[in-house]
Amino acid sequence: MSESLFADASKRLARAMKYVSISEEALEHLKYPQTSLIVSIPVRMDNGSLRIFQGYRVRYDDTRGPGKGGVRYHPNVTLDEVQSLAFWMTFKCAVMNLPFGGAKGGVTVNPKELSKLELERLSRGYIDAIADFIGPDTDILAPDVYTNPTIMGWMMDEYSIIKRKLCPAVVTGKPVTLGGSLGRDTATAMGAFFTIEASAAKFDLIPQETTVAVQGFGNAGAHIAEMLFKAGYKVVAVSDSQGGVYSKKGLDIPSIRHFKQSHKGIQAIYCQDTVCNVGEHENISNQELLTLDVDILIPAALENQITEANVNDIKAKMIFEVANGPTTSEADKILEQKGIYVFPDILVNAGGVTVSYFEWVQNRSGLYWSLEEVNSRLRQKMVEETQQIWHLSQELAVSMRTAAYVHALNRLGEAVNAKGTRDYYTS
Ligand code: NAD
Repeated sequence: MSESLFADASKRLARAMKYVSISEEALEHLKYPQTSLIVSIPVRMDNGSLRIFQGYRVRYDDTRGPGKGGVRYHPNVTLDEVQSLAFWMTFKCAVMNLPFGGAKGGVTVNPKELSKLELERLSRGYIDAIADFIGPDTDILAPDVYTNPTIMGWMMDEYSIIKRKLCPAVVTGKPVTLGGSLGRDTATAMGAFFTIEASAAKFDLIPQETTVAVQGFGNAGAHIAEMLFKAGYKVVAVSDSQGGVYSKKGLDIPSIRHFKQSHKGIQAIYCQDTVCNVGEHENISNQELLTLDVDILIPAALENQITEANVNDIKAKMIFEVANGPTTSEADKILEQKGIYVFPDILVNAGGVTVSYFEWVQNRSGLYWSLEEVNSRLRQKMVEETQQIWHLSQELAVSMRTAAYVHALNRLGEAVNAKGTRDYYTS
């Protein structure tokens, strides 16, 4: 794909615009990221040398509340990617009716090459560089690809040191002992599970007869694979960055998770092993996994996985996007023509930011909730918004993705308008 990820992401907005009646000014406002910060992060390496890493924080829009979004550590992180992820966060928070705008951060780094101490220095350095830009009332961080609760704990601690007071609400996805919410670790997958459950009834899906393939076996992918396995679904394939495994009879997901976790290397932050080494299953590539003949395909790794190059080979009946942006806008059109139902990222993976919101509320009120309370509030929100988007898609005869954007645009447009547009003052 030659055009930028952000240009491609913006096409979803263009497609939804014709179904909303919001002011031109509000639409214009939502086409551009509000602020993009690029920072250089000097890190003293264990061997005494100095390395400079490039970091980003983008606040896309804060009309509905402070910016909210994760921080990604990956060698392919670019400003374009971070802007796209911040754009999706803006719409995701509006889809879920959370009082947040959208933001995202990232550092261009292969974290698997760093020692634990180097990783800590990088994480603290990133916060030193962006400290004036973030805060519990301005922009709140969370985990994303290759960042986790340990890293969130370091980030919150560093920010608190700079501000000379404890500021737990500046970062969500922290370890529970540092003010993290129960259920945040499984929230993205749990939210996706509730969406699948709510949709299963509409498609008469019987778990035992429903086959599933999951691409990506990290926080989101491994948990959703396990939840579906436990609910009786036949998870026939899973994969990670190194490849995947397939079994027609279905995989034993808890043992694969156990296998991956028990093979941690010395860094104890990233798994050194891969699902490919599980044994006695057929090994498949990530590309093969995407084109398996399954009922449900769950991309849960990175963006741009279903593209014009492979969309014609996709055989799944339904796609639940747990990853952000796994399908390009061109591929989307073809999936629609093929009659494949795509449940979009801004709904399906919104459980993560929803429980992040719960964590922020708990940090600010000082009252902490039980796991049952977190999950029951999450279920209520996921089911409610899934139903609304479903009805909107039926009413407008559009895809679930367009319906989700329309749903979000209505809320965003109303907020932009209320802050003052020409229409607002003249009508
Ligand atoms: P993670 O770092 O925990 O896991 C990423 C997984 O993807 C790993 O298993 C890794 O091996 C695999 N992977 C990396 N490159 C791959 C490739 N080229 N092909 C196949 N697999 C590959 O990250 P995560 O938090 O699980 O995030 C996964 C996706 O879910 C991302 O798109 C992220 O933006 C999205 N997401 C995460 C959250 C969250 O709360 N963690 C919330 C919403 C959305």
